[in-house]
Amino acid sequence: VEGVIALVRANGGRSTHSRRIVLETLFDGEDCATAEEIAAVAQRRAPDVHLSTVYRNLEELQELGVVVHSHMGHGPATYQLASHASAYLICDACGARFEAPDAMFKSLAKAAHEQFEFAIDPHHVAILGRCRACR
Ligand SMILES: [Zn+2]
Ligand SMILES: [Zn+2]
Repeated sequence: VEGVIALVRANGGRSTHSRRIVLETLFDGEDCATAEEIAAVAQRRAPDVHLSTVYRNLEELQELGVVVHSHMGHGPATYQLASHASAYLICDACGARFEAPDAMFKSLAKAAHEQFEFAIDPHHVAILGRCRACR
């Protein structure tokens, strides 16, 4: 957390109490939590941290490049530390989630670049499908 707080300061951001709590929650919690999940955990440590404060902090941390959001299927956006971001495959039926290595998107990235000069971002949106058990 201290390293990220230093980064936030170096990028011109302020280090507030609520921001520290949000960052600690992101570091300690499981990957990919929604803002509401982050707020619920943060409020156990500091009851005065409101959901709106969490949203604002997440926005600012995204602008600073410390946090990224991604869309895990149909639910609300989830947030994770930029340094820990990865791609996911999610079962549309049971919700099973698989962390997909970046190498899995190598040929897609190559084709998208060659045909459209387009740089894909496989971390931003999860790929939906069916797991083995639900097919
Ligand atoms: Zn988005
Ligand atoms: Zn499934």
